[in-house]
Amino acid sequence: MKRKQPITPVRRTAPTVPAVRRESPRGSRRRAVIAVAGAVLVLVLVGGVALRYFSGAGGPVFEHRLDENVLLITIDTLRADAVGAYGGLARTPNLNRLAAAGLRFESAHAHAVTTLPAHASLLTGLYPTQHGIHDNNGYRLSPKVPTLASRLKAQGFATGGFVAAFPLDSRFGLTTGFDVYDDRYPGTSGGREFVLPERRGDAVVAAASAWIGAQRGRWFAWVHLFDPHAPYRPPAPFDREYANSPYHGEVAYSDSVLSALLSAATGAAGGRPTLVIVTGDHGEGLGDHGEATHGLFAYESTLRIPLIVAQFPAGGPAWDAGAAPVPAAGGRVVHAPVRHVDIVPTVLDVLQLPSAQDLPGRSLLAAVNTRSDEETASYFEAMSASLNRGWAPLRGVVVGREKYIDVPIPELYDLTADPREAANLVDRAPDRLRALDLTLRGIPASAAAADRRAADPETSERLRALGYVSGNAAPKTRYTEADDPKRLVGIDQDIHRAVDLYQRGRPADAVPIYQKMLAAHPTMEIAYAHLSMLQWELGDPASAIVTLRAALAAGVDSVAIRTKLGTYLAESGHGSDAIPILRDAVSGDFPDLDALNALGIAQARAGRVEEATASFRRILDLSPSHAMALENLGSIALEKEQYDQARAFFARALDSDPSSAQAHNGLGVVELKAGNRKGAIEHWKRAVAGDPTNFYALYNVAVELVNDGRPDAARPYLERFARTAPPALYAADVRRVQAMLARW
Ligand SMILES: [Zn+2]
Repeated sequence: MKRKQPITPVRRTAPTVPAVRRESPRGSRRRAVIAVAGAVLVLVLVGGVALRYFSGAGGPVFEHRLDENVLLITIDTLRADAVGAYGGLARTPNLNRLAAAGLRFESAHAHAVTTLPAHASLLTGLYPTQHGIHDNNGYRLSPKVPTLASRLKAQGFATGGFVAAFPLDSRFGLTTGFDVYDDRYPGTSGGREFVLPERRGDAVVAAASAWIGAQRGRWFAWVHLFDPHAPYRPPAPFDREYANSPYHGEVAYSDSVLSALLSAATGAAGGRPTLVIVTGDHGEGLGDHGEATHGLFAYESTLRIPLIVAQFPAGGPAWDAGAAPVPAAGGRVVHAPVRHVDIVPTVLDVLQLPSAQDLPGRSLLAAVNTRSDEETASYFEAMSASLNRGWAPLRGVVVGREKYIDVPIPELYDLTADPREAANLVDRAPDRLRALDLTLRGIPASAAAADRRAADPETSERLRALGYVSGNAAPKTRYTEADDPKRLVGIDQDIHRAVDLYQRGRPADAVPIYQKMLAAHPTMEIAYAHLSMLQWELGDPASAIVTLRAALAAGVDSVAIRTKLGTYLAESGHGSDAIPILRDAVSGDFPDLDALNALGIAQARAGRVEEATASFRRILDLSPSHAMALENLGSIALEKEQYDQARAFFARALDSDPSSAQAHNGLGVVELKAGNRKGAIEHWKRAVAGDPTNFYALYNVAVELVNDGRPDAARPYLERFARTAPPALYAADVRRVQAMLARW
């Protein structure tokens, strides 16, 4: 029997290809807590002025420590009031002990409500208006912008970054200054709109702890946990314990993995003290104001984050995971308003390094000594819905305890009297509104950001189309009250409902939601993207392509839409048609890597193998551990019968993404070619287990089991192939398999 073409010549890009993964990638979770420990604060908590801002008693104060290691922990989607130390539901003994040993900031704010822009602010000390990153997609931090890592590296620190999920992939440029940037996480065969690739907290902590343990000199480590991000699926025993509140279960799980990390950091060789900083990148809506997750609004549910700073002495006892729990409310509490942009100046201050004059933040040491009524302004924004859906941009400032949100229907809140932001004071305090609006207009925007956008013509164009050019100068006149995100929150809820249906294995039920949405809002990019992905996944490539062509016809033209259309065309046998569509999407110095991967696939499908190889190599120049580019280069080597090279590429892909089904499929072919049928079958089984929609691997394992004289073992695979492979893409193979089954 003729064995089916053994390899998928190239792997489809994850984001564009709808696939049937309905569970989060195995074992992946994220956390985002940041703790600052070990830093010495020079805090002078002396005197009546400072005392006013603390509650609790005792505990160490911040001090300057020149020889200190620095550990920054960011726990994704960590809402301040979920943490035990902040009075929350989640059991967080490690964070509570950290807070008890150091300082807990009660009023800390992020500047953005999505992962990449928030982390860019954390690491650069700049507002989004300055670093220029406003969303998770379409941006890359300029390598010219100094980061905490590059500043510390210049002082002789070893620097390591360990991230848990795709929004912080090395392609987005937060790598500047890091000796090691570990962004290995499992891929997802489904679209990234529906499930973000992520790595579980214990795995991130294991990688970071090993690196910390190997250091002999001073080090800076940044550890990012993603687990509390939706979907909420805490592992045992947190799943049962938090059955009614799985988000809090994820937070508790995230806390549980901190023991190992804190032990590694405080017990590290070298006899140095350690500064630990823990924060969240943003919070989570959990239904407040109608927002299920985050990114749409900037209410306190998603803008306020925990911030804990602690210093551990040199030669002190290592973190003891078994120590008796401390009361959740222990330690010093700082009520003065503080911000993410204060973290870089704080670290520089603690280490007594030259301060960076061009940063908007100030050392937390100063905040600790400041009267809480001092009017520190904190800029914030929520731009994703504006960039992706054309809704009004949302920006604002928190000044002291006042909060102003600049949208077509403006909002003003007194956070002391009204922490849930229920009473909009706009009509009652017009003078305050004017004053805060002036403050917002005065938020610095940097020329460097504009330069970076110029380097990315596509993004620049999108921003200009939105009237959002220089950060604080967006002409609001384009937007009416109908564009206010508050008026459109119902659409957001519809999208969440559709994503939820998909995740529960009912993609067909999600289709009409998007069809209805497009009938009412024919320029909503996200609806075209999601609908086409569902259609593709339901085995209807023709409809998926029609949907994306309709988007272009409606003027919805973006790299993401072109990447999807190009991929679907290439995957359904129209590689030549796809190439011109994708070419336009990969111009510039920092091309979109998904578009570039799709172009490589189209080139390979059209028989232009050398061009395809060049496209994949260009991806590796920008992102050296890019799993899909490695898989695709492996597949090309396989086609050329260069088996040693293929094996090497697939092995590198597995190092980046240990669950990669495509790499296992390719290695299966390599093993078979080497005469090792047993090993081949083993790889294909793992491929199918990792991705039930890898129909090549499914076919291969079925057929080789038959060839191995084990028809009974083959039968379930053959039946599964006949039942699940989309006929539109695998018609001939399905017929062949059905014929085999009929013979038995
Ligand atoms: Zn995030």
